[in-house]
Amino acid sequence: MTPVGDRRTAGPANSVLLTRALTKTYGSGETAVQALKDVDLDVRQGEFIVLLGASGSGKSTLLNILGGLDLPSSGEVEFLGERLTGASDEALTRYRREHVGFVFQFYNLIPSLTVAENVALVTDISLDPMPVDEALALVALMPRRNHFPSQLSGGEQQRVAIARAIAKRPQLLLCDEPTGALDYATGKLVLEVIARINSELGTTAIVITHNAAIAGMADRVVRLADGRVASIEVPQRRLTPAELSW
Ligand code: ADP
Ligand code: MG
Repeated sequence: MTPVGDRRTAGPANSVLLTRALTKTYGSGETAVQALKDVDLDVRQGEFIVLLGASGSGKSTLLNILGGLDLPSSGEVEFLGERLTGASDEALTRYRREHVGFVFQFYNLIPSLTVAENVALVTDISLDPMPVDEALALVALMPRRNHFPSQLSGGEQQRVAIARAIAKRPQLLLCDEPTGALDYATGKLVLEVIARINSELGTTAIVITHNAAIAGMADRVVRLADGRVASIEVPQRRLTPAELSW
């Protein structure tokens, strides 16, 4: 991989991401908001982590910092033993481009491009992408490859966004409320796709959700409360999305 910062002593051998004493403060003085307080987290290679917590508990802030979209106020973040904190802007951009796939609540597809063209936007600029059609097959959208986003349902559009995120074969798939704009049944299908990518490609996945029912799909469930890690649970048996009750 491309170095992203100073090499340091790596944490636990199979950690892909780790944070130490991570804090994030927005603003200053009387209006300062402490979004993250002393967050220590190890994410293992290939893990499926569900991140839960009330609105405002710091989930998006943490995910954005893990993905190199934002910087902490203090503390450390390491990706495969290399520091993101202290890395140059250029190195962080490279980290995001090469190693991180993002999926957000809104799909941000380009309306004037077809499904296949939306995915090709990413594969065209990636180092070792999968073929566009392979990415579309992983999200079961090959039959819609020549359609435009406006011709697809919300769930289908989100699956295009997932195909776009994984087409560059990222190490990390970071999803911020990917089902937030979808009904339960559709959201379940989208989560099933994320779970399949995690198990078939081995992509480490961190998924933020409001829905505790999804937690049964995870290897670990990390709950944030008021900017801190309130609990980390290991579900007894990892459920498939189809087994979840909604
Ligand atoms: P969550 O994703 O769990 O809803 P966030 O990480 O978005 O929480 O926000 C955590 C806290 O930080 C909230 O109190 C939020 O209002 C605050 N916050 C988030 N982003 C900003 C920002 N850009 N400027 C100021 N405060 C922010
Ligand atoms: Mg959020």
